[in-house]
Amino acid sequence: MSTIPSHLKNVDVFISEEKIQSRISQLGQEITNDFAGEEIVVIGVLNGAFMFCADLIRQIKLPVHLEFMGASSYGDGTESSGQLDITLDLKKSIEGKNVVVVEDIVDTGLTLKYLLADLKNRSPKSLKTCSLLHKPSKTQHHIPINYLAFEVEDQFVIGYGLDLAGKYRELPFIGLYRGE
Ligand code: 5GP
Repeated sequence: MSTIPSHLKNVDVFISEEKIQSRISQLGQEITNDFAGEEIVVIGVLNGAFMFCADLIRQIKLPVHLEFMGASSYGDGTESSGQLDITLDLKKSIEGKNVVVVEDIVDTGLTLKYLLADLKNRSPKSLKTCSLLHKPSKTQHHIPINYLAFEVEDQFVIGYGLDLAGKYRELPFIGLYRGE
């Protein structure tokens, strides 16, 4: 069982460390089977997916080339401008490669939609999506998630890479913030 450190009084465990790790082991097995005999490029989307990505690649029993991308979709406050702001780009070409893009959470689907469009333009051999979390009730852009760890309700989650104003990313579990 995860124990909550005393400075995290306002945080409830929502998905335990054990549950996360067991699900990641299944996803790693699935990816290993799907790409048997091949190499893959795993692209972690920063910052939120760093922890998920680190644990996931340890469960993939194939040659993995790890890359990170920094990306955020942005707009005028009410509506998206239709642009993806790439704050950190790939170091290597993905042309002709099997790519698995790894997200922390797919909420409206906007970030992943823009990201996929951008990556498709770079001519990978295949392009799959993987996300730790998905909020189906918030979907505005239907992007297939090929490998999904957990579906969640419309609740704001923190921990295991996900932040609240820059805090709580270090938690080994996914939590719910109860407020001050
Ligand atoms: P989308 O473009 O799918 O609407 O948004 C995805 C991004 O919104 C995620 O990468 C994440 O940064 C943020 N986000 C959405 N829901 C949550 C949540 O419940 N908790 C946290 N910490 N971030 C969220």
